[in-house]
Amino acid sequence: MSKGLKRILALLLILASFCAVAAGEEDVEIEELVLEPEEGFDALWTFPVALEDMNPEYIILANKHYLLSQDYVPADLVKVPSDPKKGGIKWTGSGTDGKLKGWYLRADCAQALCDMNAVMREIDGFQTMYLKSAYRSWSKQNTMYKNRLKKNNGKDDGWVSKAGASDHQTGLGCDVIPYNWTKKPGMNEKMMKEKECQWMAEHCQEYGFIIRYPADKKEYTEINTEPWHLRYVGIPVATYIMENGLCLEEFTQQLQEAIDDYIARGGDPAKVEAYIQKPTD
Ligand SMILES: [Zn+2]
Repeated sequence: MSKGLKRILALLLILASFCAVAAGEEDVEIEELVLEPEEGFDALWTFPVALEDMNPEYIILANKHYLLSQDYVPADLVKVPSDPKKGGIKWTGSGTDGKLKGWYLRADCAQALCDMNAVMREIDGFQTMYLKSAYRSWSKQNTMYKNRLKKNNGKDDGWVSKAGASDHQTGLGCDVIPYNWTKKPGMNEKMMKEKECQWMAEHCQEYGFIIRYPADKKEYTEINTEPWHLRYVGIPVATYIMENGLCLEEFTQQLQEAIDDYIARGGDPAKVEAYIQKPTD
């Protein structure tokens, strides 16, 4: 080998090792970029329902494990108009609850219920729908629960929630029944056979409602099916829940997981704070 050739080989070796070092440094830089997002970086919200399409107050979960406090009273409760000719819905039962006389719901929920009822009144062959129960205070629920226990030899049969666990305390839950059930002493799952109830199960999401206690979700809700109990969550959330055959418990779990994931990916915790719900037990 000539002296010139040896020199060229040596130069090539130096160049090759320099390139390897440079490539290595580049790898380190890429890793650092992934681990430490730049200032102003915000992770994407990938959950199917956008944050701005959910009102944190309307997706509140109330059940045995997510108890509402004794002093939780929803904002903007309004008396539901009871004259269908003036855009209301007929009442049955007594809405007396402390100082409140009649049935009350949060304003958006009351409006959605009246809108839905106005449409149902126009459908041929449908019975008149009645509002049987709406907002219930903690103390009214407490009295109802105690009375149910007394009737049932002290056993909780799953028909009346204990205080704090009732969807009715949110001011977004309401019991809506067809006329012939106003004549019966109680309500049960057979109401599902009524065409009005089947229509509600198909269309309630168009007004922002979900069926709160579906027949196939007792393992999550721990409540017997109630074809009459509608719960207002707003149209985008209701559409997502009903189209995917979920109950509110499953939706809440999905949403909380999406929030954890968003924060883990570097999302801004302040943007999702209002949507966080934690079990009380
Ligand atoms: Zn109910």
